[in-house]
Amino acid sequence: MNLPEIVDQTRAYYCLDCGICTGSCPVSRVTPEFSPRLMVEKVLMDEEENPLEDVNIWSCLSCGQCSSRCPSKIDYPEFVRMVREEAVRQGKGGVPAHRGLFQTIMRLQTLDIKQSKTDWAREAGRISESGDTYYFVGCSPFFDVEFQTDWNLDVMDGPRGVLKLLNTMGIEPVIHDDERCCGHDLLWNGDKENFARLAERNVKLIKSLGCKRVVFHCPEGYLTFKKYYPEVLGDLGIEIVHFYELLAAEVKSGAISFAPSDGVLTYHDPCRLGRQAGIIEQPRDLIQAIPGIEFKEMQHNRENGICCGTSAWMGCSSCSKAIQKNRLAEAVATGADTLVTACPKCRLHLSCALRDMDIELKIRDINDLLAQTLKI
Ligand code: SF4
Ligand code: SF4
Repeated sequence: MNLPEIVDQTRAYYCLDCGICTGSCPVSRVTPEFSPRLMVEKVLMDEEENPLEDVNIWSCLSCGQCSSRCPSKIDYPEFVRMVREEAVRQGKGGVPAHRGLFQTIMRLQTLDIKQSKTDWAREAGRISESGDTYYFVGCSPFFDVEFQTDWNLDVMDGPRGVLKLLNTMGIEPVIHDDERCCGHDLLWNGDKENFARLAERNVKLIKSLGCKRVVFHCPEGYLTFKKYYPEVLGDLGIEIVHFYELLAAEVKSGAISFAPSDGVLTYHDPCRLGRQAGIIEQPRDLIQAIPGIEFKEMQHNRENGICCGTSAWMGCSSCSKAIQKNRLAEAVATGADTLVTACPKCRLHLSCALRDMDIELKIRDINDLLAQTLKI
């Protein structure tokens, strides 16, 4: 897609030059030379400079804070995604974080490789070979390999918690070794071709197992299946459900309850789950269903929640660290002793920044928290 077509598709020509986007942007707040308004202007007006060469196109977190407030409803994250796609097509890419390790793992999964990634599930609970409900575990098993040893962080406690809770709800989900990365990061890295390959493999697998619905705990996987898979595959013919929709209904009906606990907790809204998928109240309701817990909101919460500072394993920088540290300082300012997250990557990124800060704060996965306090 060329630039005029991108401008057309994302309504960029309606820009009023008001600057609300830049004033709302967490990247602009710590890196003043980054400005979504100027980027749109550059594409609309400046024929000399090529935005495909602009490094700022790779600094956007696609958090959607700007577009949620834009009076002209310009979809800046989509604009960025499309410009990246065009840049990649022309051989110009961004700088991946972690030396591109995760992008390599993602692209490997487009091939006919054999994976072994369900052992943890057989140890943690009951799963099925086929059936109505597929649990899409996502990339936590790969993150676990990278971060368990280096950071002593058990990323699999989230999926184990989800499985325990699903089993308690009477669901023995299908989990499969052949599941691939959902492709979220490749999509936002501008690699639409490999994104489409991953999408096709995942949907084919899930349908071949006879599953009629897919349950996600990962915000990125959920949003990617719900919004972006149909763009490349059409109607998927399977129901896309977020785990908290199921769990919140069980808690509301009284079928599931939690044992008393203590502590002061605050909640970080992942951009994909909160602002972009509209799953905002359920995680809060679930945390507050634990008796004895005191819940505090951060200054920026719900639709105004601030991004965890890095997106799609691309360009982790001093700007990312500044955003993360500001977010952790906000959590501490609530008086909370624990920051609860609902996204494996938010947890990793915020935990990374926490290592360099001298503050008393724990970061916990919400699924692990709920599973550990489950009343059986
Ligand atoms: S908020 Fe929307 S209209 Fe205002 S400058 Fe940004 S893109 Fe243009
Ligand atoms: S999507 Fe987020 S990071 Fe990107 S320009 Fe908009 S507010 Fe800034």
